[in-house]
Amino acid sequence: MRLGLIEGDGIGPEIVDATRRVVDEALSVVSADPVRWVPLPLGHKAIAEHGVPVPDFTLDQLEELPGWVMGPHDSASYPAQVRGKAPGAIIRKRFDLFANIRPARAFRGVRAVTPGMDLVIVRENSEGLYGDRNMYAGAGEFMPTPDVAMSVGVVTRTACERIAHMACRLAKDRRKRVTVVHKANVLTLTTGLFLNVCREVAQHYPDVAVDDEHVDAMAAHLVRRGDTFDVVVTENLFGDILSDLAGELSGSLGLAASLNCSENRAMAQAAHGAAPDIAGHNRANPTALMLSAAMLLRWLAEHGHGASLGLAAKRIEHSISETFAAGVATADLGGRASTSEFTERVLAQLRRL
Ligand code: ATP
Repeated sequence: MRLGLIEGDGIGPEIVDATRRVVDEALSVVSADPVRWVPLPLGHKAIAEHGVPVPDFTLDQLEELPGWVMGPHDSASYPAQVRGKAPGAIIRKRFDLFANIRPARAFRGVRAVTPGMDLVIVRENSEGLYGDRNMYAGAGEFMPTPDVAMSVGVVTRTACERIAHMACRLAKDRRKRVTVVHKANVLTLTTGLFLNVCREVAQHYPDVAVDDEHVDAMAAHLVRRGDTFDVVVTENLFGDILSDLAGELSGSLGLAASLNCSENRAMAQAAHGAAPDIAGHNRANPTALMLSAAMLLRWLAEHGHGASLGLAAKRIEHSISETFAAGVATADLGGRASTSEFTERVLAQLRRL
């Protein structure tokens, strides 16, 4: 199994290295075939080596791989002459990673605003108001004069259908409930289409119950009763915002895992950013990326790359839960463990299994 490994910027190298070690350890017992990691430059490392943040070399290599683990990027810090679209946006568009699956789950032993939270946000990832990816050519955000800024939102039936199917399939394996989040009272045509198509698709899943919420009400519901939701499907921008909120309510952004996927490729990438304020201090919480990597392994197992990968995913999740239950946590969760201490404890749990 060859998987890409992209360090990213800021805390990226620290959490990517920790995640690689945990994946290798988790697989070592359940499979004779270790992952062959393919390190690829992107972001600051690529600027240093290739002069640009997203080299063709990296994209061509990714084309050959079923999946990869990617650290966060801090594209705002790239030199102006090479700063373009964010690396994550280019990759999501190039490989049509249309679904962004973002679980928010509270762990025993971790202080959380909503201790019972266990939901998954299924975010449409290819269009909406994201001007860096919603056009065939050019960008959906532009300025006709220096004092006027405009943004075009795009919602298509095709994109709504595929994300709605993804959400319903996920719900079938969980608590069988999907909440469609929209703003159809104001964005009547765009998010109205999203809502209607999701409802249509849900009719193909009679065992899945469907309801819907306006995005503003949903923000309030998440704070008040975040533990009552199962699968939440929504468009790009709403999903980005709500998933940060849900991640924080479940304990910390540092727990917020995410998988970006199409039908034939998947990318593990934490929901949080590059956290430049703590980069290089051995303080970052690597949990979100470790859990994202577990999601990648499970996705690979479900797509015919070997059942042992699914077992390794379970082992990672279990070891992280046990580490938290033992009272070990990084500073963002109020704990004292450094990135490397936390990683060692997860590795020790894995060896104990
Ligand atoms: P982006 O827009 O790229 O998602 P952002 O501006 O939302 O980035 P982050 O980089 O996610 O910001 O950081 C937000 C805050 O959360 C910062 O204070 C950062 O230190 C903290 N943070 C983010 N990720 C982690 C982590 N893994 N461990 C600890 N703290 C984190």
